[in-house]
Amino acid sequence: MEATSKYFMNVKLLIVIFLLSVSVPAQTNKPSRRMTVTFDDLPYVAIDQQGLPKARRATTEILRILKAHRVPVVAFVNEGFLQAAGEEEGRIALLQQWVHAGMILGNHTFSHADFNTLTVEEFQQEIIKGEVVTRRLMQSHQPYQLYFRHPGTHTGDTQAKKEAIEVFLAARGYKVTPHTIDSEDFVFNVGYLRALRNKDEATARRLREAYLNFAVAATEFAERFSSEIFGDEITQTLLVHANDINADCLDEMLKRFTARGYRFVTLDEAMRDSAYQVKDKYVSKFGPTWLWRWMKSKGMDTRGMKVSGKDDPEPPEWVMDLYRKG
Ligand SMILES: [Zn+2]
Repeated sequence: MEATSKYFMNVKLLIVIFLLSVSVPAQTNKPSRRMTVTFDDLPYVAIDQQGLPKARRATTEILRILKAHRVPVVAFVNEGFLQAAGEEEGRIALLQQWVHAGMILGNHTFSHADFNTLTVEEFQQEIIKGEVVTRRLMQSHQPYQLYFRHPGTHTGDTQAKKEAIEVFLAARGYKVTPHTIDSEDFVFNVGYLRALRNKDEATARRLREAYLNFAVAATEFAERFSSEIFGDEITQTLLVHANDINADCLDEMLKRFTARGYRFVTLDEAMRDSAYQVKDKYVSKFGPTWLWRWMKSKGMDTRGMKVSGKDDPEPPEWVMDLYRKG
């Protein structure tokens, strides 16, 4: 008798444990979201003569944070910024840090060229010149997908230019890299660099908080906008730059994304999301996100949607003032 009741007790206990284990994920109510993170303007934004120690500090810090959060990254290089008397080796070493950390280097043209102001032939030369060092450094990673990002995401101001460069890039093995979240970090970074120079910690702290809030607001907008276009959220692609404000904010930013349910995936994986199969047919001299381009390419507009272009957040006016001062 006693043995039988013990047996039933054990069975009951097992059932309780089983029910607990299956009900825990449903109770957390945390959405399952995916994001890939991309960096632009390597080796380092606004690298200037004798600026190597600053660039090393930012690079080391960014890579330490990415490793801690297990974030795989594709980072886009402007090889023109490697060239500086006496500093070339040191600047190439910055790229090596990214490669050693397991990151993929992409092509962002040689001189951060604006396709709006160049012919197709001139832009092709920028692409060819912009892959020399990168391809050499990435030799140990073979095979890997080649990625290209147009500076300013200016993908061609006429249909003929856009299509011609797409054909050229595909023939060289490149995929064009979309983005769905624009962090506008470059705006915040201008005031931030000045605050650091002036040892104005109050302004620096205010800028860090404003930037983090903006990045989350831009992400919320991308979540809502992508749901309106595709019926559900998609894998998001964040665009940030190799700069100081990210060195000092990235850890907290990734924590906030993780709290929103994000898991960080490779760009290769993001590119397999069905949204990314929609061909970008949108021609513009501006550089909108791919959410806007995909919406237009699908023949849709924001009428009838629960979001409008006005919901797309802008950096606060006081941050814009600091940016305009330069
Ligand atoms: Zn850029």
